[in-house]
Amino acid sequence: NVRRQHSNEGSEILPRPVVVTVMGHVDHGKTSLLDALRQTSVAAKEAGGITQHLGAFVVSMPSGASITFLDTPGHAAFSAMRARGAAVTDLVVLVVAADDGVMPQTLEAISHAKSANVPIVVAINKCDKPSANPERVKLQLASEGFLLEEMGGDIQVVEVSAVTKTGLDNLEEAILLQAEMMELKARVDGHAQAYVVEAKLDKGRGPLATAIVKAGTLVCGQHVVVGSEWGRIRAIRDMSGKLTERARPAMPVVIEGLKGLPMAGDDVTVVETEERARMLSAGRRRKYEKDRLRQIME
Ligand code: GDP
Repeated sequence: NVRRQHSNEGSEILPRPVVVTVMGHVDHGKTSLLDALRQTSVAAKEAGGITQHLGAFVVSMPSGASITFLDTPGHAAFSAMRARGAAVTDLVVLVVAADDGVMPQTLEAISHAKSANVPIVVAINKCDKPSANPERVKLQLASEGFLLEEMGGDIQVVEVSAVTKTGLDNLEEAILLQAEMMELKARVDGHAQAYVVEAKLDKGRGPLATAIVKAGTLVCGQHVVVGSEWGRIRAIRDMSGKLTERARPAMPVVIEGLKGLPMAGDDVTVVETEERARMLSAGRRRKYEKDRLRQIME
């Protein structure tokens, strides 16, 4: 019983999955946690447990809900994307090691999330360690002005271990609860507005771009301009590698058919013809060149 709404243009606005970025201090377990979460995803199981890093993966919950994780941990990626206007993340999972506690990059992550106005769910990791002290971490966070749920605030804290894989289901539940409160919705009809989260060159298939649609629907065969690159979408695959005709909001997909390699944070614009695509791409290239020159001069 999905509540339907209509936007001004008369196109449908529907609930969409949440997109999550994992941040935290170096060595606190961001990569390990992403790997552990990825293993709970159907795609990872289908691929025989082989964990692939393609920029994003989807965890489908028994309830039917799904969570999209961006699998490029780190603040550089987050900042780069934001600097280019790609507000693709809805929620930050802040990883804090239970033995180490709050560290400089923990605070940096908090300030990134705050300035982007993105809510935080805290994952206290490494709780399997004998030296783990989650209570100390909570007090540290509280002294940073974090209003934790168990202290009457609204920031959820979950104790996990990426190594023993305990607490992952609680973390996923906490993310879904936060997402529910945010009432995430997107326009489904019409041309897609999408962002690249990762791109790489494949020997056989050429440039591959992992993209997440923010609004609208990306359809196979469309002409696109991606950053300053262009092409015609030859194939769209979901994160398990399955071919699909279209990509809807918040579901990451890998697109084939670009002439060159885009960058993380590049936006995907759909245009009507190849000529338009070439022209727009050339125009953007000139603009990027100018911007780069200006930066060098300054
Ligand atoms: P990142 O720099 O935040 O991505 O951290 P990594 O995922 O690379 O983890 C850093 C180190 O901490 C590695 O040696 C991991 O094996 C270890 N580690 C990560 N998560 C856990 C955990 O839950 N428990 C324990 N005991 N070690 C962990």
